[in-house]
Amino acid sequence: MQGLTPLHEAQKIVLAAAQPLAVEKVGLLDALGRVLAEDIIAPRDNPPWDNSAMDGFAVRWEDIKQEHAITKPILLKVIEEVPAGKVPAKVVGRGQAIRIMTGAPIPKGANTVVKVEDTEPSEASVRIFKEVERGANIRPQGEDVKKGDCIIAKGTQIRPAEAGMLAILAKSFVPVYQRPRVAILATGDELADLDERFDETKIVNSNSYGTAAAVQEAGGVPVLLGIAQDQPAVLKEKIKQGLNADLLVLSGGVSMGDYDFTKAVFNELGAEMHFWKLAIRPGQPLAFGKIQGKLAFGLPGNPVSSMVTFEQLVRPALLKMSGHRSYGRPVIQAVFQEKFSKRPDRRHFLRGILNRENGVLTVRTTGDQGSGILTSMVKAHCLIDVPEDVERLNPGDTVTVQLLGSNFWVC
Ligand code: AMP
Ligand code: MG
Repeated sequence: MQGLTPLHEAQKIVLAAAQPLAVEKVGLLDALGRVLAEDIIAPRDNPPWDNSAMDGFAVRWEDIKQEHAITKPILLKVIEEVPAGKVPAKVVGRGQAIRIMTGAPIPKGANTVVKVEDTEPSEASVRIFKEVERGANIRPQGEDVKKGDCIIAKGTQIRPAEAGMLAILAKSFVPVYQRPRVAILATGDELADLDERFDETKIVNSNSYGTAAAVQEAGGVPVLLGIAQDQPAVLKEKIKQGLNADLLVLSGGVSMGDYDFTKAVFNELGAEMHFWKLAIRPGQPLAFGKIQGKLAFGLPGNPVSSMVTFEQLVRPALLKMSGHRSYGRPVIQAVFQEKFSKRPDRRHFLRGILNRENGVLTVRTTGDQGSGILTSMVKAHCLIDVPEDVERLNPGDTVTVQLLGSNFWVC
């Protein structure tokens, strides 16, 4: 019997096989969450000109630099008013000021802005009550972005900040990697689909929906192929159909039972298999290979095993195919609250609930950890990663956890 492949090796194999997909252009409003396929170089400075950071008066610093301005205010002649969006027509000369609004270009001749609160304007003049530093309240041209600089690197995921910056750079269309299309196939005679009428002999095919959601969350496009009965010919036909997608995910039928045909059918289709069994729990039976150049995963049928192995192997592959540069969930340390023991052979992923107690992050399991208990995933904030060689955990031990989402209110 073939040995168990350690997870870190399996991950290396999967990531070596997965390659970024082709590039497409999408409108900026559709770019959120996508991954940039080219470096974005600034076509011009931002701000494009020196401009005012305040509503106030653009002045020559030399005219207002005297001390004791409060007791002896300086009087300047106001020669123009420049709202944002207007270009100053005049040059500020000795003893003159131009009224200026936030964002408006600094007029020629001026080198400082005094904010309106530090002045007393009247019809055609203004009194300055405060000495300010030379260059005060001016945002210099290019302080944010310099023409020619790489502002967002290829491989960056587009968040609201990147979307705003792309707009500053006038990119209405953005080159991004294609989203992987993932064919999802359930196997098993005991399964009925959501929209089918079914009797007590059947259970609902939940894996396809959990997997489809996980694919979407990872940025992929799920393509549901339905259910294949436990018959090699049916399975083969469905798998062939799935090869039109970028990646294929099966669930069930990968163990050694009499009705587990995935292995045989993969072989019949000329799959180049990389591993069949993983040294993890849940999720030991897991097939990964390439069929006609497409990545194919046979995940275990048990719902928790299917989700945990998706997290550890399929998700990283999808992230790499989508152009990401890092492929893991955020990982943090927390203080374990329970006793736990296992054999020092496989890596375990316990479903965990995080808490913050007196400023310290703590984690406890969701309760029963059976691989068919999907409520353990429903309750979970995280997966507690217990390495192969660890035999026992006690309350107070520090453990590493993988966060399953990004929105936590841990209080
Ligand atoms: P198998 O690996 O095919 O022996 O399946 C293991 C367990 O997972 C069995 O109890 C199946 O009923 C269950 N299972 C398999 N596929 C699915 C599915 N698509 N949805 C929900 N449960 C499943
Ligand atoms: Mg089965």
